[in-house]
Amino acid sequence: MSALAKNYNRRKISFLKGKGSYLYSTNGKRYLDFVQGIAVNSLGHANPNLIKAINKQSKKVWHVSNAFLIPEGEKLAKKLTQKTFADSVIFQNSGTEATEAAIKIARRYFYSIGKPNKNRIICIKNSFHGRTIAAINASGSKKMTEGFGPKVPGFDHFEFGNHKKMKKLINKNTAAIMVETVMGEGGIKVIPSWCIKELRKICNKKGILLILDEVQCGIGRSGKFFAFENAKVKPDIVPIAKGIGGGFPIGAVLMSKKVAKAMTPGTHGSTFGGNPLAMSVGNAVIDQILKKGFLNNVKRLSDYFHYELNKIQKQFPNIIKEVRGVGYLIGLQLFFDQTKFIQQLMKNNLLTIRAAENVIRILPPLNVKKIEIDLALRIIKKVCYNYKV
Ligand SMILES: *Cc1c(COP(=O)(O)O)cnc(C)c1O
Repeated sequence: MSALAKNYNRRKISFLKGKGSYLYSTNGKRYLDFVQGIAVNSLGHANPNLIKAINKQSKKVWHVSNAFLIPEGEKLAKKLTQKTFADSVIFQNSGTEATEAAIKIARRYFYSIGKPNKNRIICIKNSFHGRTIAAINASGSKKMTEGFGPKVPGFDHFEFGNHKKMKKLINKNTAAIMVETVMGEGGIKVIPSWCIKELRKICNKKGILLILDEVQCGIGRSGKFFAFENAKVKPDIVPIAKGIGGGFPIGAVLMSKKVAKAMTPGTHGSTFGGNPLAMSVGNAVIDQILKKGFLNNVKRLSDYFHYELNKIQKQFPNIIKEVRGVGYLIGLQLFFDQTKFIQQLMKNNLLTIRAAENVIRILPPLNVKKIEIDLALRIIKKVCYNYKV
């Protein structure tokens, strides 16, 4: 009997080790891992550069309080701001802490300019921003909030794509609109660039902030450093996590100078957030992702992957309804529950993971090789071929 709580529905398999795109299970099998800890291991398993970085730092200093200067964090923040819209960064340890901080920052900004009543956040119904009490209420999904006490006030919801409702929700108390640039858990739903542009315009017009949650789609996964870059807009606040740590828990909020001014000493903090060990790994991750040609390669190979998956979709139009997503944030939407299909892929040594709306999520590491993509394509095709609907 496991002493772990039952809050996960775990597959009955564990792993001895990983290398790049592969995981090796305790029962002696090799799996092509296109889950990668849910878009976390952006550079695959046991990446030599990350091993080197963590080894080196682990011999110097693991943790010091944010009461002191942390040069590794200064370095990572500089890289994150030089490459993006942002002027300022606060480090956290997870995605939900990052979205939680984003909400706090938006509210604190309006408080700091004498408009404390502007504190409501508009979100997409059944989106995913994490599991803290505030984040589940931001997501507004019954499945996540049920049984967890009184609803946290301050969030208004519209359905994905319902622009009319979204505009109607904006009132004098609205502080921000917060959406995932690409909805991950919600079924790999890409908000089109024209929509993101429109959101920016509306926010400008109404004097409210735009928060783009890039916890899953950010840090190169879309083929751009941030998925919103395709829309050529500047958000005000962007929570990130997953991919930036390459497997080490790191979260962060990126923000413009304007809102950062509100975060004066004592307004927010974290014991672990931004510690030297985490920051050293983060620096190693971002150095590799920002290397010349790296993101172009993500774009080029992921385009190939999408193209080939669309061919399979046309070949099996009774199984696959749609190929969704952008870059290496890919969703195969089936016409029926995806559980059995995911099991079949796993039987054939390909690991994938579910998302809402019958979607199978495919999340290779950003440095996946073409031969590994081809192997995945062969497995998906084989499972389609043998699948009894
Ligand atoms: C995973 C995720 C989160 C929460 O991240 P945790 O590290 O699990 O807390 C928040 N927002 C989005 C878009 C995510 O995909």
